[in-house]
Amino acid sequence: MGHTSVSSRRISPRGSPPNLRRTPPKIRKILVIKEKRAAETEDPVMDELLLASKLKRVDSATGCVSPRAPSIDIAPTVPPTSTATATVPRPTQKAPKTPYVILPACDTFEKFRKTSRVSVDIGGTLIKVVYSSVMDDELPEEKNGQKRKYAYEDGKRVLVNFKKFTDLDRLINFLREVWTDRKAGDVIHCTGGGSYKYSEIIMKELGVRLQRTDEMRSLIYGVNFLLSTNVDESFTYHHDAIGLNKFQYRPIAADLIYPFLLVNIGTGISILKVDSPTSYERVGGSSMGGGTFMGLGSLLTPAQNFDELLEMANKGDHRNVDKLVSDIYGGSYDELKLKADLIAGSMAKCNRFGETPKKQVHKPEDIAKSLLLMVSNNIGQMAYLYGTRYNLKRIYFGGYFIRQDPITMRTLSFAINYWSRGEIEALYLKHEGYLGAMGSFLDEEGKLDD
Ligand code: ADP
Repeated sequence: MGHTSVSSRRISPRGSPPNLRRTPPKIRKILVIKEKRAAETEDPVMDELLLASKLKRVDSATGCVSPRAPSIDIAPTVPPTSTATATVPRPTQKAPKTPYVILPACDTFEKFRKTSRVSVDIGGTLIKVVYSSVMDDELPEEKNGQKRKYAYEDGKRVLVNFKKFTDLDRLINFLREVWTDRKAGDVIHCTGGGSYKYSEIIMKELGVRLQRTDEMRSLIYGVNFLLSTNVDESFTYHHDAIGLNKFQYRPIAADLIYPFLLVNIGTGISILKVDSPTSYERVGGSSMGGGTFMGLGSLLTPAQNFDELLEMANKGDHRNVDKLVSDIYGGSYDELKLKADLIAGSMAKCNRFGETPKKQVHKPEDIAKSLLLMVSNNIGQMAYLYGTRYNLKRIYFGGYFIRQDPITMRTLSFAINYWSRGEIEALYLKHEGYLGAMGSFLDEEGKLDD
């Protein structure tokens, strides 16, 4: 397991500085206090938002349940294929700063108490990591009643941790640091395109074998696990509410989770109709996803990274670049029920044909906002159409593009609510970007590379 340099294996530009301005004010306050974290701890905004558990919980119409045992459907049945059965006790650690979920102390997860499990999802833009760790300290959020459920007899708890990277070097260095009990022959669970592209490098650098899980299977396993074990996983977004009331938890009883539509917005978009953890179909997709927002944003604005672009979008006024119904009709177009402020043509005001020389008169913030609306409106409409086509009442949005951004969630929720006349619900997930990594973490049956 020698440490060799793995330079120039970035899959995208390096991580971005923290951006607090686009976060709701109350949460921002929590974030600013916790902001003084190590510089290499990426993405504090999302991480802290995931950690903040003070969001209001609203019982779903279908019934709220308190923490549940994991669904038996996702319970891994095949024993690990690695030498992962060693009984050497693992070193324990203090509560991590990155987000975590505590696994219920049950037989299914017992093996993670003895041996680390690491999973990576290497996508078109980001690398997401999910890994287990063991704690014997009491955790801040544990209430009396919960201790028994989450702590084994020896007082230890198994945590699942989440972290993302923008390049492979950092991932490998990070895994060398946290995966201290790894031995030659241990298995790293992998999914995403990079699990093919970078398999040799990962195996060589970490001295482990690689077990690959199909991307869609990983997504479904991940979402099923999170919805059925993490009671505060999914939430709805209400733009007109004040402060934290904008976010409302939507717990769902395990037997009511299916069917649903999963719209995963990463570099591109995958749309899955999910009938059970083992019965699902990729019914559609689009190339106009997070990668499009970043790519066009990089071409059209001076933003240096995703966070800057998102921050610009949150400051911009799209009406300066988009042609609205009112720009064309002088007001609303009542016959077609088109409101005056509806976007008729995204960026249609940017047309400079016929001008010599062409003048750039538009602010990057306005362009960024228009771009974000264009991408999210399109996804919202598409999600609604697929939801209607398959008669599904709940649409879960996943993928790292969302970043719990108010404009994105408002646009998606508005589109779903408006077109379905309130019949279909748009739902978001706390671990939105980690569904694939979570699923491959749990999967025992992937294909092994040696
Ligand atoms: P993939 O698996 O294809 O990489 P993800 O679910 O990880 O997909 O989402 C990637 C998208 O997430 C990017 O295209 C971008 O729109 C968005 N994103 C959010 N935060 C970042 C970030 N810090 N760096 C790069 N992209 C980010």
